[in-house]
Amino acid sequence: MTDFKNQLYINGAWRDSASGAVFDVINPFDESVLSQCASAEVADAQDALTAAANAAPVWRGMTPRQRSVILRKAFDLMTARLPEFAELITLENGKAKTDAMGEATYAAEFFRWFSEEAVRADGNLTMAPASGARILVHQKPAGIAYLITPWNYPAAMGTRKIAPALAAGCTVIVKPASETPLSLLALAALLEEAGVPAGVVNILPSQKPAEISEVIMNDPRVRVVSFTGSTGVGRNLLKLAANQVLTPAMELGGNAPLLVLHDADIDVAVEGAMLAKMRNMGEACTAANRLYVHASIATEFTEKLSAAMGKLTVGNGLEAGIDVGPLVNAATRDKVSSFVCDAVEKGAKIEVGGVLPTGPGYFYPPTVLSNVPDNALCLDDEIFGPVAAIQTFTDEQAIIAKANDTEYGLVAYVFTEDLKRGLHISEQLEFGMVGLNRGLVSDPAAPFGGVKQSGLGREGGHEGLMEFMETQYISTVW
Ligand code: NAD
Repeated sequence: MTDFKNQLYINGAWRDSASGAVFDVINPFDESVLSQCASAEVADAQDALTAAANAAPVWRGMTPRQRSVILRKAFDLMTARLPEFAELITLENGKAKTDAMGEATYAAEFFRWFSEEAVRADGNLTMAPASGARILVHQKPAGIAYLITPWNYPAAMGTRKIAPALAAGCTVIVKPASETPLSLLALAALLEEAGVPAGVVNILPSQKPAEISEVIMNDPRVRVVSFTGSTGVGRNLLKLAANQVLTPAMELGGNAPLLVLHDADIDVAVEGAMLAKMRNMGEACTAANRLYVHASIATEFTEKLSAAMGKLTVGNGLEAGIDVGPLVNAATRDKVSSFVCDAVEKGAKIEVGGVLPTGPGYFYPPTVLSNVPDNALCLDDEIFGPVAAIQTFTDEQAIIAKANDTEYGLVAYVFTEDLKRGLHISEQLEFGMVGLNRGLVSDPAAPFGGVKQSGLGREGGHEGLMEFMETQYISTVW
């Protein structure tokens, strides 16, 4: 594969960075250089701003139906090329083919969902109760949106922002993660083919994200910043967003608890835990980070989970039959390994896995830890790898309080055969999303997002469209 799109995409044209700067994109499987990608600098960011501003009247001047048709075409084109996208995702991120196909499918679905939502930006007309004046409320495109995405879902975290922004009538500048810029560059070519006019979508890979973000976010033509990534970077971007009072959408870190109650169907809980933990090798903000299992069923649950984890095949994500690919880079792998060492030093038991392999590639084996002590670092911080950390409990109210005892609030999982109790517990959990007897919550039709330090705003669902629209109220009489 030598024909990667690896240049900047500005105003419908492919070009090198103004300074000629490039950076290496690494294949996590063998640490080889996949491609050298152009690295945007300040002059390129300024060109992208001009392109997005010039294209804005054209794009917002189209009818919702015209935008919808183009988005639907993007869905059709991407769906026809899922294996190609999946291969690219595996090459730059490492994840196994099955995970990559899952991501490519999920990524494409945002175009279908928002092609349908594009025509549903409703307003309303009411009479002011006292004056009798008319209150006319409608939605307008917010303006230029700046979208910053992470490496763990190189395509889907982009389409989850690009599709609603385009549906709303916004033009966009996208900054993909430096580890994985190739999937979104390939997507730019597809969007052009679908009929997106020049300048509506601009893609700026860059090794200087802070510098270009400062220029873009301080430009008064930009109105929205939508970021997915770590809470630390999100916090800094929120401060920067304050300068121009940008609308922020922040999808940040998580520390998901997974509660298995005494009356759970153990097989359903194990299947759910496998999904919640091992989808994307644990490199997901939604990954179950803390498994709290009722003491009465902990032995059976731990044995079954360890058996399922032990059966997973680790290797080159491109090969058939591989379940788990390498992690994205050495830093991520080393952090996972250090969490396991820390937990074991403090008294945790390795049920399966736990041995750092030698040789090239950023591999870490599927691992189950039982008897994890309260002071283990992995319970407080995102593991972001294939390690399930188990604690047991007997007091349901105490475990709900423990689940909530985190600065994060993205997603929690609950397993119980008593639906009424499950709903009652779900309500008590301070998380933006709950998987009740399910290990998967992501769905383009649902509002994805967190509370507390997991973020602001929602992506997907109808809410996702509204992040890129401004409400205008017109007062009149007749
Ligand atoms: P990261 O914060 O390091 O980087 C995310 C993006 O921000 C990248 O494009 C990066 O280049 C850019 N960036 C880094 N520093 C920047 C700066 N100073 N100014 C502007 N942009 C900057 O995160 P990551 O390591 O790529 O991704 C992992 C994190 O993302 C995890 O914490 C994970 O939980 C989170 N995440 C959250 C969600 C969600 O929906 N809540 C989804 C996926 C990942």
